[in-house]
Amino acid sequence: MRDFEPRYVRRHRVIPLVPDGDGTVELVAQIERGYYPFGGIANHPPLIGPFGELTGYTMIRLFRDGLLIGALVLLSLYHILLTLGPNRNAPTLVLAGITLFLATNLFILIGESAFTAVFSVPTALHTRLIGLALYPLPPLYLRFLRELYPLEARGRASVTIERLLWVWLAVSWIVPLQWWADLLYAGIVVMVGAAILVGTTLARALRSRRDGIGFVVSAISVLIATAVLELGGTAGIVALPERVAGYGFVVFAGFNSLAVFLRIVDFRISLTNLKDQAQHDGLTGLYNRRTLDARVREEHLRHGRSGRPLALIMLDVDNFKPYNDNNGHQAGDRVLKTVATVLHNHARRSGDVAARYGGEEFTLLLPHTDIHDAYRIAESIRRSVEDHKIPHPDSASGVVTVSLGVTVLEPTGGVGFSTDPESLYRAADSALYDAKETGRNGVRTAYVSEAIQAGARVSGAPE
Ligand code: GH3
Ligand code: MG
Ligand code: MG
Repeated sequence: MRDFEPRYVRRHRVIPLVPDGDGTVELVAQIERGYYPFGGIANHPPLIGPFGELTGYTMIRLFRDGLLIGALVLLSLYHILLTLGPNRNAPTLVLAGITLFLATNLFILIGESAFTAVFSVPTALHTRLIGLALYPLPPLYLRFLRELYPLEARGRASVTIERLLWVWLAVSWIVPLQWWADLLYAGIVVMVGAAILVGTTLARALRSRRDGIGFVVSAISVLIATAVLELGGTAGIVALPERVAGYGFVVFAGFNSLAVFLRIVDFRISLTNLKDQAQHDGLTGLYNRRTLDARVREEHLRHGRSGRPLALIMLDVDNFKPYNDNNGHQAGDRVLKTVATVLHNHARRSGDVAARYGGEEFTLLLPHTDIHDAYRIAESIRRSVEDHKIPHPDSASGVVTVSLGVTVLEPTGGVGFSTDPESLYRAADSALYDAKETGRNGVRTAYVSEAIQAGARVSGAPE
């Protein structure tokens, strides 16, 4: 059926004959009619026989071809859906276009045997459709590689060749069919340029070990192998298995899809790591000041609505400067890590936030916690640090100790807070100052309610 004789355009039609008793059609009539573009019609005698025999087409083949096209269409839909989701990215959309064109291409290739038989597609349109399905692939693939590996794709050359390829596609729809051979030869120059660009991009991406480059190289290798097989088959060198191009397309699209998938996964992991890094303190692994501030603001609002008490503990290592001076900064850092671990172990409920406030000062934010519980937790932290018995000759007890200031913000009568979130820090800090003043290695409280506005503050351990 592949008929590229430029002056001869063929139409044919398959007509099912009246069904037999079972409602099945065994016989069809095939009427073929040839048009000469410059005048004249050639009628061929109608052929009558089983559909499969006349067209070389069986239901199993039809089913298998449908599967191949279906696989490409599904891949394409998958990538279109990906671009609608949170993983929106350019390579995905371009790949959706590529797979759709591959599906169209396959549909038309298959159409050469089955669909022209059924739908009577004039060969002239058919030839142009094949061009439409094939020619967008190289420019789209250049675009795909540029989106996937922007550092490795030679941007300007890639854009230039991509544009030339689009122009070539447009020209293929304008020029008369008999010029197609010339068009193909002219296009070879651009195609070679595109192939070199793809090759260099892949080589550079391989060298920089980019994500998914193995899949992309596999995809291209499959495509090349398919083309070689097709050429070998056309030249009669190898006996070509059926639909080699179809399988090649599906594997090609699949490999590229895996490359994109890998990139999305990698991107997600990097993003999660980055978010994690942005929220945590590098030395101790606790939340950093920025996260603490955000959480304090959040909880301040929430507790204002719920009317429940919000507690905050501020901790400062006692006589830490001499410890650093005598034992060195690294030993100091180890102490900070120990204190951080103790604090972390006391952040038991899901809303609790153990954070490094800055330097050797730490904070524990305790939602829905009253002054008594907060005090007990602070006291437990103090004792726990002391129990580590880290030698510290400059400290009164001979070991590293900490002082803690505890405060609780309690909304009055369910009308929310009139104090700002910062008042928590201020109150905890003043309690901490009290603890330092009264000999260190202790816990002091500053009970904040709406009364703090009036300057009232309750200091000392609650009964
Ligand atoms: P006080 O009991 O009154 O808190 O005495 P202090 O010596 O701990 O007081 P101060 O707050 O002046 O000392 C803070 C010291 O903490 C200064 C600095 O040497 C040390 N420091 C702050 N950040 C770090 C850090 O990240 N690593 C280490 N090793 N030391 C730090
Ligand atoms: Mg300090
Ligand atoms: Mg200190």
